[in-house]
Amino acid sequence: QEPLLRVEDLKTHFFLDEGVVRAVDGVTFTVPRGKTVCVVGESGCGKSITARSVLGLVESPGRVVSGHVWWNPARLDAPAGAGAPAEAGPPAVRSAVPSAAEPAAGPTTRRRRGRPPRDDDPSGGSGPVDLAALDSRGEDLRRIRGNDISMVFQEPMASLSPMYTVAHQLTQAIRVHERADRQEAFERGVSLLSRVGIPRPEQRMDSYPFQLSGGMCQRVMIAIAIACGPSLLIADEPTTALDVTTQARIIDLLRDLQRATGMSMLFITHDLGVVAEVADEVVVMYLGTVVEQGGVDEIFHDPKHPYTRALLASIPTMGAGARRRPTSIRGQVPHPLRRPKGCPFHPRCDSAIPGLCDTVAPPTVDLGDGRRARCVLYDPKLVAEHTRPAPGD
Ligand code: SF4
Ligand code: MG
Repeated sequence: QEPLLRVEDLKTHFFLDEGVVRAVDGVTFTVPRGKTVCVVGESGCGKSITARSVLGLVESPGRVVSGHVWWNPARLDAPAGAGAPAEAGPPAVRSAVPSAAEPAAGPTTRRRRGRPPRDDDPSGGSGPVDLAALDSRGEDLRRIRGNDISMVFQEPMASLSPMYTVAHQLTQAIRVHERADRQEAFERGVSLLSRVGIPRPEQRMDSYPFQLSGGMCQRVMIAIAIACGPSLLIADEPTTALDVTTQARIIDLLRDLQRATGMSMLFITHDLGVVAEVADEVVVMYLGTVVEQGGVDEIFHDPKHPYTRALLASIPTMGAGARRRPTSIRGQVPHPLRRPKGCPFHPRCDSAIPGLCDTVAPPTVDLGDGRRARCVLYDPKLVAEHTRPAPGD
């Protein structure tokens, strides 16, 4: 599995008068090419901030304080001479993203605004690039946002401008990254609308957002998002604001598009039903940290972390014993400024070990097969040291 995006020890903090909120606090995961990674957790766990951090869309007083967001990290791992930059270690960002002012050196392909169609560009874009090191308002990141990575948000109505027609907003997106004249862009727009399942697309081009249902608006947003043929689509709760039937249709649409285009998806949701539908891999977040990750089947059939188990137990039709009554997770996600010491989940955890979980930050343990859990239960040595009677007892 070739990685397309690798988030490495990412930290995004918010600097408030009352203190520092560590909204994303050392998050690491990889999105493989062509796969869907779901980030799941209760609201307030840092899922959306993680997604926004990837694209440099965190607003003040928040800021990415450390870590990396590698785009096309495979190039980092490739041996020199196999298309990788010659220098050891992460290449300088400037040389990895050729800009008009600075001709590209070495094997990186020079790209211009009106870039060639994707087929001529098998790399799927330039890389490797540390997106976290780019100026969030700079041209380099804007180009990657326009060409390689798009985002769909939760509130389709709020994401579309109420002032402009669908045609205006869609053709603008098309013309940002393609050299298309008005007529060509309009025709592309119509075909994109029909691609996302909007009936009578020519007529719909003249509609304003308020004339469309929530589901239709979200389809328009998806059409805009895929207009550039992204290698990665980031979807932040894209179906949460929609009714159940529409949710299912939008999920089907995203899966169809993924199958047809081979794009990767980073899917943010609090809904484990959605995870079961779309995910290849799952990243479970709690209070800004990744508590467990692994393949979707493994996570659902053999959850390791007490938080994942509790999440699964809280939905009616999943987890071990589908006929038992769902149990809600006791307590609430703590206030972000009052993060518990030790394991942030310990006040709510049924397996917590007193004196250990409330003092020691749990290690992330590699369980093999790409599975990881951040819990002392998987570090028997740590537990043994804690429970061993002190000498003389
Ligand atoms: Fe529960 Fe302790 Fe594991 Fe945290 S480290 S999840 S409190 S057992
Ligand atoms: Mg959110």
